[in-house]
Amino acid sequence: MEWQENRLQLVLNNLPVLVAFLDNNLKYEFANQLHHAWFGTDPDLLSGRHIRDVIGNEAYSALESHIEAARSGEKSTFKGKVPYTHGGQRFIHGTAIPLPGTAAEDGGIMLLATDLTEQKLMEDELDTATLRNQTVLDTAVDGIITIDEKGIIQSCNKSAQMLFGYNAKELIGQNVSILMPSPHAENHDNYLERYLETGVKRIIGIGREVTGKRKDGSEFSMELAVGEFTEDGRHFFTGFTRDITDRKKAEYDARTHLNELAHISRLNTNHHLASNISHEINQPLTAIVTMAQALLRNIHSGRNDPTLIEGTLEKIARQGSRASHIIQEIRQYYSKGDSGKPSPNNIDDIITDVLLLLEHEVFQNNIKVETDLNNGDTMIYINRVQIEQVILNLVQNAIEAMAGVEGEHILSVKTTTTLQDYPYVEVSIMDNGPGLPEEGEEIFEHFFTTKQHGMGQGLPLCRSIIEAHGGTIKASPRHSHGAIFSFVLPIEPIDSAA
Ligand code: ADP
Repeated sequence: MEWQENRLQLVLNNLPVLVAFLDNNLKYEFANQLHHAWFGTDPDLLSGRHIRDVIGNEAYSALESHIEAARSGEKSTFKGKVPYTHGGQRFIHGTAIPLPGTAAEDGGIMLLATDLTEQKLMEDELDTATLRNQTVLDTAVDGIITIDEKGIIQSCNKSAQMLFGYNAKELIGQNVSILMPSPHAENHDNYLERYLETGVKRIIGIGREVTGKRKDGSEFSMELAVGEFTEDGRHFFTGFTRDITDRKKAEYDARTHLNELAHISRLNTNHHLASNISHEINQPLTAIVTMAQALLRNIHSGRNDPTLIEGTLEKIARQGSRASHIIQEIRQYYSKGDSGKPSPNNIDDIITDVLLLLEHEVFQNNIKVETDLNNGDTMIYINRVQIEQVILNLVQNAIEAMAGVEGEHILSVKTTTTLQDYPYVEVSIMDNGPGLPEEGEEIFEHFFTTKQHGMGQGLPLCRSIIEAHGGTIKASPRHSHGAIFSFVLPIEPIDSAA
């Protein structure tokens, strides 16, 4: 029995809970060590003292109703602040429990109290921090959405609600795919699964321009940056979204303006070219005509002076080759333009850039773009602006060609590298439009066009640029439907491209 009591006392003295047994007159029978430490009481002198004298009037008034409840047989709990013997106040969770009486003595009560001050402080701090964070989130300009590893929305700030037209209740618990248009909406779960499986990041930490879908179904351009964190072994993703419709429109306007300028400058170049040709060529042609007429007159008069005939023919030949030289020079000037020096470039990168430049046209014409780019790290020595111009022309032609036909529009761009013998890269631009109006070289001639407002200058320009780079370009019909334009460029540095 004594052994048991000793053990029990040991347990009570080591509990992180204040324990006190009071008799029915609220006088101490027992208190554990923590209780003594709290109230600064001496274990030998406590027995028989009234609780009010030990814990003080103020603490007693706070607990009195609970003590009385226990005295009348009802367990009662208390949560709140009480004055602390060593100064200040403590937050406690207390319980007053009635003790069953025996025939020999009254039951009395047991008091238990846990000091929750530190925990409460932490909770309060956490509440303040949460409130502060929520305020920051809610005043952030960006829409911020957190999802779990299944894509289920866990939280969203005010901007996100405004951006997508939903309120928080409608969003939380939904799959984030409701905020995306097809095909991303159907594929998003797979994107997440693939990432969790492979760890290959396609958007996390990178950021991207994507299309968002509002509650009313309308779509808009947005910038998306995604961050990741783990909590209790679970993955969560936070997306920061920003509406960039205005920025995209400004970009589009600027590009349209740029295209207009390029068009005007091309017109000017053409005009300049035409007046150059007529001016420069006119002089030798006039000379040729004048000399030929003089020659005819000489023959008709029957004089047939061989020295004069020979001399005049020589002059005609000289003027003729001068005219051809002038044409060559003008062609050379025209093909090289003045758009910078050749430098090492990767064709796949250029294609990606051009497709980005034409993103709007591609989108507007509902065109599906398929790329199969295989140039890897291969660099070729080219004039980037000129090659961009070629790809831009070919892709624009393909878009225009497809715009006139029904059905799905597919633009395929493929590159290959051949490193044996004469290393080269090949670029093919394929469409499923109406196909070529002419087979053969004719479409590469100046002024050949089948478009109402066409100029017939695009393909000739492409050809002169490619040839100036030591390459070749050709057009061929596609087996199924449409046209293939392809060009090859040598990988070795080309002097003539300079
Ligand atoms: P333009 O754009 O003024 O028509 P181009 O030299 O770029 O001048 O093209 C010449 C012509 O070649 C076009 O008018 C069109 O008939 C034809 N063409 C060019 N690309 C394609 C294509 N992808 N599919 C069918 N025809 C094409």
